[in-house]
Amino acid sequence: MTTIAYNLQAVRAAIAAAAASAGRAVNEINLLAVSKTFSEGAIREACQAGQICFAESYLQEALGKISSLQDLTIEWHFIGPIQSNKTRDIAANFSWVHSVDRLKIAERLSAQRPVHLPPLQLCLQVNISDEASKSGVSPRDASMLAHAIVKLPNLQLRGLMAVPKPSDEVVVQRAGFARMRELYDQLNAEGLQLDTLSMGMSHDFSAAIAEGATMVRVGSAIFGSRIYR
Ligand SMILES: *Cc1c(COP(=O)(O)O)cnc(C)c1O
Repeated sequence: MTTIAYNLQAVRAAIAAAAASAGRAVNEINLLAVSKTFSEGAIREACQAGQICFAESYLQEALGKISSLQDLTIEWHFIGPIQSNKTRDIAANFSWVHSVDRLKIAERLSAQRPVHLPPLQLCLQVNISDEASKSGVSPRDASMLAHAIVKLPNLQLRGLMAVPKPSDEVVVQRAGFARMRELYDQLNAEGLQLDTLSMGMSHDFSAAIAEGATMVRVGSAIFGSRIYR
């Protein structure tokens, strides 16, 4: 077994354990393999080990991988910051986008989604820890943005995404994820039909699952440590 296949198996086992201790069904939780900065060979290995959903953060890097890996069945998710001039390529090449935090970006993705493709699946990125430096809509503005986005064609609003402030303490990790869960429940109570809470990364996905994550985004625990260039 390759290291990547071995790591994937370990991550899947840890997801199952976290689900079991939260009294949740393991099939409620989808694993997104975050392959940013990792090679096409690494993605092929993960695919061979049964992984289908992959996430990328840097558009140029992602477009190269998407085009070279067309022989594989991969569902591509975009999770990086989005500038206006990137929306056309994102709308044409991805199934999901998790990092929408402004109406203008959603409007462009809607207008630029090619008609032959299914609706682009969307999550709103929420700045749940209210960090000045972080992207994401503030929790108090999330409802207004969500209600505006559901009116746009060619998009399907599926849920919320967040990267809470990192912490080594499980209690602190869980508190950030619990705030996301409250916001998600509030938006659903307002009539939005959301089914996706995209939260939890390599160091905190167990805490995210305990608080209701339906999609965890895991990179380094699968592919090894990342070297940014
Ligand atoms: C890089 C990244 C991840 C994965 O982080 P790891 O710590 O490698 O698991 C998840 N979500 C977002 C938004 C990222 O940018």
